[in-house]
Amino acid sequence: MPLDLPAMIRRSGNRRKAITFRPIKPTKALSDDLARLYMRVVSAWQQIALGRLLDIYAATLAQMTKDSPQDVQGELDLGEETIRRLLVSIFPDLRRWGVVVEEWHRNRFSGAALTATGIDLATVLSPVDVTETVGAVIARNVALIKDVSAEAQGRISDIVFRGITQRTPSRKVAKELREAVAMSRRRSLLIATDQANKLTASLDRARQEEVGIDQFLWRHSGKVHYRPAHKARDGNVYDWAAPPADLPGQLPFCGCRAQAYISFDDGTDSPSA
Ligand SMILES: [Zn+2]
Repeated sequence: MPLDLPAMIRRSGNRRKAITFRPIKPTKALSDDLARLYMRVVSAWQQIALGRLLDIYAATLAQMTKDSPQDVQGELDLGEETIRRLLVSIFPDLRRWGVVVEEWHRNRFSGAALTATGIDLATVLSPVDVTETVGAVIARNVALIKDVSAEAQGRISDIVFRGITQRTPSRKVAKELREAVAMSRRRSLLIATDQANKLTASLDRARQEEVGIDQFLWRHSGKVHYRPAHKARDGNVYDWAAPPADLPGQLPFCGCRAQAYISFDDGTDSPSA
């Protein structure tokens, strides 16, 4: 049965016109944990590219026999298989990360509710209530890790085959491979920060709606690179049923938050014309 927190507050003899919960900001530790999962794939590609693959490349260049490019392809295929097994082992860790974030958020949300209303939701809220919300973000991250891996593989493959065609010295190819890995690393870090933010933003909405909070205050991120349209929304009250075109934390790298807002102002106090 869904909860009606505003009704519970009214019954407790509330005299305030509005109540806001403190916003829930994801910690760096949460995004770092996610980044580490992405990095396992990036590091594995680094080992493949700068290990045996580079040795085979150097040998290919030295001999330039007919079937050497096949050896390079064979090593890339082996690498792909290694990564495929690695991904299978990472996906359960990704789900565990979702479990940790959900628990962290649930504690923050019930803590904010207790501070703002005096009502303890800690034993009322359950992970089961947000299974879909968490599941959707985990599924998205499964796709993103696969994409980061495929992109790294594509870059590595391009570099070595272009190198063979152009007879690029091994040292230069090694440098290009290191740069390709660094690009994947940077992209992974950005994705992890963004995805940790998106999961907590989705949980904000799910928990607020679960306890009958149908409005939120837009809290601007305060980031250096912000969207002017989002800054303009700062402090505005929106209905979850009719929100702006994009929600807080939804667009890429948006750090804005939806702060739970309960209004008890039914208009009876305002002077009539
Ligand atoms: Zn924003």
